[in-house]
Amino acid sequence: MSGQEFSDFPFMELPRGILIDKGALSKVGSVCRRFHLDGKGLIVCDSITKEIAGRGVEGSLSDVGYGSEVIVIEGATDRSVEVVNDHVSEKGDDFILGVGGGRPIDVAKYIAMVRDLDFISVPTAASHDGIASSRASIEMDGRKKSIKAKAPLGVVADTEIIARSPYRLLASGSADIISNYTAVLDWKLAHRLKDEPFSEYAAALSEMTARMVMERASDISTRLEESVRIVLKALVSSSVAMSIAGSSRPASGSEHMFAHALDAVAEKPALHGEEVGVGSIMMMYLHGGDWERIRGALETLKAPIDAEGLGVKNGEIIEALVGACSIRPERYTILGDGLTRDAAEKVARITGVID
Ligand code: ZN
Repeated sequence: MSGQEFSDFPFMELPRGILIDKGALSKVGSVCRRFHLDGKGLIVCDSITKEIAGRGVEGSLSDVGYGSEVIVIEGATDRSVEVVNDHVSEKGDDFILGVGGGRPIDVAKYIAMVRDLDFISVPTAASHDGIASSRASIEMDGRKKSIKAKAPLGVVADTEIIARSPYRLLASGSADIISNYTAVLDWKLAHRLKDEPFSEYAAALSEMTARMVMERASDISTRLEESVRIVLKALVSSSVAMSIAGSSRPASGSEHMFAHALDAVAEKPALHGEEVGVGSIMMMYLHGGDWERIRGALETLKAPIDAEGLGVKNGEIIEALVGACSIRPERYTILGDGLTRDAAEKVARITGVID
């Protein structure tokens, strides 16, 4: 049965097995055996992750008798999707592995849904919560879109490899999780005002995950292998919350709309998690909540808390705040039908995001 046939049903798709460990890369083959996968694997990488992990995955698959091929993509674009899809058509790959920070995982999980293949996620960084979720961020006709994809059957995260990735990525992943606070507030608001379906379980899991990352911010900032473990578990449980909800609501609200708007207007956008973190400070202010606590946690994590930290201009922040409501009009949030320019400037100034 293809994944697409389920797209109109409240079908909860969750990862079935998760391995977070030092040296986990060498166990990818055994994990595939454990899931009784048959045939040949297609390893989707980019040019960097091919060297740091792609080859290791290839070796691990061959150790337990799987044939595999490595395909290198450039970005998570419609073009990459086409290239990988053609490969599956021509070579008849039986299962797919996404090896990377984000882009190869996005492409692999999307192809997994389109071609109904089993998908294994092998993250090489803990920079956002897409590593175990059933949504993919793909650039279509030059515009980034969040689309339905397949949740991984398994997630294999090698903490040793991820600990070697720049700390900035880990801080960004942590900020993405802290932003769950405002996403859940937006969701509750939409539930009350627009009668949008709401899941207590998904919301509670999402908030708890955000709280744990917030409370452990100073442990995470030590940049040790333990930091990687904390953030990885949080990213996985945030993805699970989205799977339970059947939408990205538990982890994506107005702060994500702000980030997407900033991506569109900024000359040099920052990392996804960095942008949503700053967005979350401002959206928490709009919700009348404790925005200073969010800012404090981001500061402890050494994640950006203002325009300067993001490397964007004050004007771009205002532009993004004003435009954020039109990013996803069907998603009701605290932004309502939009902020006026004056209101946008006020929230950005009061929260210290611009000076
Ligand atoms: Zn996010």
